[in-house]
Amino acid sequence: MAFVAIRHLYKEFDGIPALENVHLEIEEGEFFALLGPSGCGKTTTMRCIAGFESPTSGTIEIGGEDVSRIPANRRSCGMVSQSYALFPHMTVFENVAYSLNIRRFYRGGLSDRVSVLAGMLNRKLGRVNRETEEKVQNYLKLVELSHLGDRLPGQLSGGQQQRVALARALIMEPAVLLMDEPLSNLDKKLRNSMRVMIRDIQKKVGITTLFVTHDQEEAMSMADRVAVMSEGKVIQVDTPSGLYSHPAHSFVADFVGSSNILRGEVFPADEGEGSWIIIPGEVRLRSDSRREKGEAMVLIRPESLTLLSSAEAAGQGENRLSGSIRWAAYFGAKVRYGVDLGPFALQVDTVYRSGEPLLQEGDAVMLTVEPNQVVVL
Ligand code: ATP
Repeated sequence: MAFVAIRHLYKEFDGIPALENVHLEIEEGEFFALLGPSGCGKTTTMRCIAGFESPTSGTIEIGGEDVSRIPANRRSCGMVSQSYALFPHMTVFENVAYSLNIRRFYRGGLSDRVSVLAGMLNRKLGRVNRETEEKVQNYLKLVELSHLGDRLPGQLSGGQQQRVALARALIMEPAVLLMDEPLSNLDKKLRNSMRVMIRDIQKKVGITTLFVTHDQEEAMSMADRVAVMSEGKVIQVDTPSGLYSHPAHSFVADFVGSSNILRGEVFPADEGEGSWIIIPGEVRLRSDSRREKGEAMVLIRPESLTLLSSAEAAGQGENRLSGSIRWAAYFGAKVRYGVDLGPFALQVDTVYRSGEPLLQEGDAVMLTVEPNQVVVL
């Protein structure tokens, strides 16, 4: 049974739909990413789960309980957002401790509330409850900030502030951790190391996590499964490798990874499995995908295309495409070429070996692709 289940979720703002029949099931302990372009409804979905937005219709279950009508402070969700939203006048320690107290205050009875208020007063007087102290220290250790407990947020880097925000969300021991574009304010290098750190912490704690991002690399490198959204709808849910190798829709193929997408006419092959596809220029390609006769979109990833040497190009074979180099982009370990094939162009990735000269604009080339890499969408 899914730990978080979103069923037939619709949300309208002033009569304009933002979410249309969103259906998602997230397993316990799973790291699940919501991926899509700006405005596709990722944040609205997350805010509905947290209880900050009420759905127009549909239900949300967490741990088997229907929370659709439960206020946000009674849902067991911890949230980390793009703007770290730390209290600037409180130290790192106090920011994290505050979160713990807020939970006790709202969830507990009268005696808990009195004890929270007394604790706050004690802290002002420099006296800290041992249990709180230990717990906060444990969470600061988890995010590797034990040494910075006395600093104010303004004295921390963006990455450190985001780690405080993470500790503050986790210390509440929520059932679900919701992260909305948490890394988008950080520079690329820091983002990469934070991805690894967040994933490590999530595994250590084992918390069910929903991570919102518009960055496909982020979603693909971090998540167990990814839901791709477009215009308020979930288009496809799969593992990162499943999405990449079997996109169910040209939108997913285009959004996830780099793609060559061509329009073609498909004919089921007479012999064996697979199909023939006639792409622009009357070029015939063989594909292992089997489809009914008709128009279809065809996906070929840049790294699935191979540039043949002149000796190989002189031989015979299927799935050959002749063209000329239009441009080259050097990425260190790989070179991407734009190849002009007359009625269309393809992007081709090649492994770059140090010292090798790059092909030049106008160089004639022959490309080939294995039939199992020609995906009919
Ligand atoms: P981004 O990555 O830019 O945050 P998103 O995928 O998270 O985008 P949402 O913020 O969920 O998208 O917005 C989905 C749609 O709902 C957008 O068209 C947005 O303008 C609209 N929307 C969101 N919140 C409100 C609101 N409070 N009032 C009116 N429209 C809203």
